Amino acid sequence: MKYDTVIGLEVHAQLKTNTKIFCSCPTEFGQGPNDQVCPICLGMPGVLPVLNKRALELAIRAGLSLNCEIAETSKFDRKNYFYPDLPKGYQISQYDKPICKQGHLTVKGKKVRITRAHLEEDAGKLVHAGAEGLHGSTHSCPDYNRAGVPLLEIVSEPDITSAEDAREYLTELRTLLRYVDVCDGNLEEGSFRCDANVSIKPAGSAELGTRTEIKNMNSFKAVERAINSEVERQIQLVESGGKVVQETRLWNEATGKTFAMRSKEDAHDYRYFPEPDLVPFNVSRDWVKEVQAAMPELPEARRSRYVEKCGVSAEDAYILAENKDMSDFYDEVLKLGANAKTVANWLLGPALAFMNENNLDFTQLKATPKTIADLADVVNKGTIGTTTAKQLLPELLKDGGDVNQIIKDKGLAQVSDEAGLKTAVEEVIAKFPDQLAEFRSGKVKVRQFFFGETMKSLKGKGNPQVINKLLDELLPG
Ligand code: ADP
Ligand code: MG
Ligand code: ZN
Repeated sequence: MKYDTVIGLEVHAQLKTNTKIFCSCPTEFGQGPNDQVCPICLGMPGVLPVLNKRALELAIRAGLSLNCEIAETSKFDRKNYFYPDLPKGYQISQYDKPICKQGHLTVKGKKVRITRAHLEEDAGKLVHAGAEGLHGSTHSCPDYNRAGVPLLEIVSEPDITSAEDAREYLTELRTLLRYVDVCDGNLEEGSFRCDANVSIKPAGSAELGTRTEIKNMNSFKAVERAINSEVERQIQLVESGGKVVQETRLWNEATGKTFAMRSKEDAHDYRYFPEPDLVPFNVSRDWVKEVQAAMPELPEARRSRYVEKCGVSAEDAYILAENKDMSDFYDEVLKLGANAKTVANWLLGPALAFMNENNLDFTQLKATPKTIADLADVVNKGTIGTTTAKQLLPELLKDGGDVNQIIKDKGLAQVSDEAGLKTAVEEVIAKFPDQLAEFRSGKVKVRQFFFGETMKSLKGKGNPQVINKLLDELLPG
């Protein structure tokens, strides 16, 4: 039998605030254990949480970028569960009135619906210690620095139909959240985490199968592998007469398999109820408009602009817009009137290669947008050729500097003066009588040889258009 794969993703994105969601503890990563806690985020009896307005604003920003409805009234709820990483015995989350709902994200032309995006507090972390940690560990030490860090949980509809599309969705979502400066998207530091819900159904069937939820993937590649492995497991199970049970499974990167962790709780198991310490709140439409007005142009819009106005191919536009720093840099160069296509080629080719090799990003460059615009300008004027420009590029990126001065100092200017070039071409023709004879006997390809030799004699600095024109004149066709 053939099966369809059905995937819905839940992403926990850490919001870029300086302080936690309900107290004023800092959210900085990498501090000593329990250096960033207070009675509120530890959930001591009698304390009162206060909502961080910035966290709410970032949630609205994210929601707008995901085409969501922003709730006019919203509230917080207690989600009860007991686990040592959560000292209060409940997590403050949002149940029936999430701040954002019913949006969508377009991923490589396919629409994935967003069910909801709600605010919640993160839990602490258990450090398993002693006897080399984890499975041999003798004890676990709770670190509550992360407790109360603001999260936005973004839940998709089960619209994703392959592991690869799941990876693309995550890539696009992370790009978007970085664009709107809501989340730094750092997987290693846990600021962007994903759980994958996976089920299979007979191909074409309208009814969804029973899902499992996979956790513990710490890269997009791992999400893709975990989904593929889980789909495989479910198919084998069903084919051999078994039934998929709703449960939470953990991904094991080393074995490349998922394994059962616990049977899945349903909402009623959590016994959600309205958080009595935080009153329901209104989100004014004026504020939403203000937040909307402060949004940058989003990747989708940039891509269309690059294709339509800059003559960039769809694939190139995708890569350009994917990296906001590069895209911002590119836009600055364009504002200075540079040739859009030339600059796009430079950024995607030599510049990107240079950055990857040196582990740099576009905010760390010595070259300013003006440097690159100047470079495009000298090429446009014919002062230097495109080959020279490409050679000069890495150096400019690394050290910056005045383009015209560098060309002068290094003697890179292209020779365009026709009289001088004519002498060079004539000398080359005179130097290779055998090749000239070949050319005369009809081997037109030898023309390229003369072009190459002329360039060589000019140390690559001859203006190619002028040389070509001279060859047309001097080599009888
Ligand atoms: P929970 O609180 O149990 O995690 P949610 O209602 O928040 O449940 O949804 C979890 C996710 O599971 C959503 O992303 C949803 O799209 C996805 N999902 C629901 N049903 C299925 C299914 N049959 N197969 C795959 N994914 C599913
Ligand atoms: Mg879930
Ligand atoms: Zn605190």
